[in-house]
Amino acid sequence: MAIQQFPLTLTARRMLAPSVAHLGFERSDGQPMAFVPGQFIQVHFQYADGTATKRSYSLATIPADGGATRSVEIAVSYVPGGAATALFEGLEIGDAVSASGPFGRFCLMPQDANRRYLLIGTGTGVTPYRSMLPQLARQIAERGVEVVLLSGARSPAELLYGDEFRAFAEAHPGFRFVPCFSRELPAPGSPHHHADVRHGYVQQFLDEFAPQAGGDIAYLCGNPNMVDACFEALKGYGLGVAQIRREKYVSSK
Ligand SMILES: Cc1cc2nc3c(=O)[nH]c(=O)nc-3n(C[C@H](O)[C@H](O)[C@H](O)COP(=O)(O)OP(=O)(O)OC[C@H]3O[C@@H](n4cnc5c(N)ncnc54)[C@H](O)[C@@H]3O)c2cc1C
Repeated sequence: MAIQQFPLTLTARRMLAPSVAHLGFERSDGQPMAFVPGQFIQVHFQYADGTATKRSYSLATIPADGGATRSVEIAVSYVPGGAATALFEGLEIGDAVSASGPFGRFCLMPQDANRRYLLIGTGTGVTPYRSMLPQLARQIAERGVEVVLLSGARSPAELLYGDEFRAFAEAHPGFRFVPCFSRELPAPGSPHHHADVRHGYVQQFLDEFAPQAGGDIAYLCGNPNMVDACFEALKGYGLGVAQIRREKYVSSK
């Protein structure tokens, strides 16, 4: 059965980092865009020779109260020579792409009774967590769940949605935002120059948070090598497979 596709019209674009764009679309067939934070869409297009192809993108949209929206936001990391990269770079405001979805189960589960969420992402792998913020705010308020977000980036310039996560952490004491910079630390006096940053890869800092089989549920999203490394490490702390939820940004090419 063919998957149903719908048009998305580009309404906004801004650069989050030197090679990462935040793209805002509106579903332009008049239908609402129902989704659960953590899900992704697929964008369908053709290679130059006419062959059909598609790429997946996590939804970054922060759902409005009530949930119904037509807005579709994604963060796209441009890769040299990338087919979808060329498509998105060439899009003008008002242009449309064809999409399908939402897909995936990388979502918060209403029945979770854990003490803490360990949310781990590299690069655009933090977009699902941006979308989950209202749900997390509710869970922090209603059942006192703690949340630690480890966000991996090479440098402060490449940290995605850092200001938003930092503001959320300031407003919600149950939420800790820990940027991990693999190459370059923030300069003194810059916005992210505060105590809660680390120098290295996200997986190097798990030990500090003492993951526990009894209390933690972990979410891993982004670079497949990071996801595998953290998955193995978390199993080493005794977490079961059901407590480790994964979304790997594997390349479709
Ligand atoms: C479930 C899922 C969700 C995803 N969500 C996102 C998302 O939210 N944002 C996002 O930017 N991407 C996401 N991806 C990856 C995305 O689908 C594409 O793979 C990516 O955008 C590259 O597509 P492209 O057509 O531009 O490059 P391609 O034409 O597919 O590849 C061009 C060249 O770049 C290499 N390459 C591909 N990806 C990368 C990379 N990340 N780093 C370095 N080299 C690369 C390829 O191996 C190839 O040599 C997701 C993937 C999956 C499976």
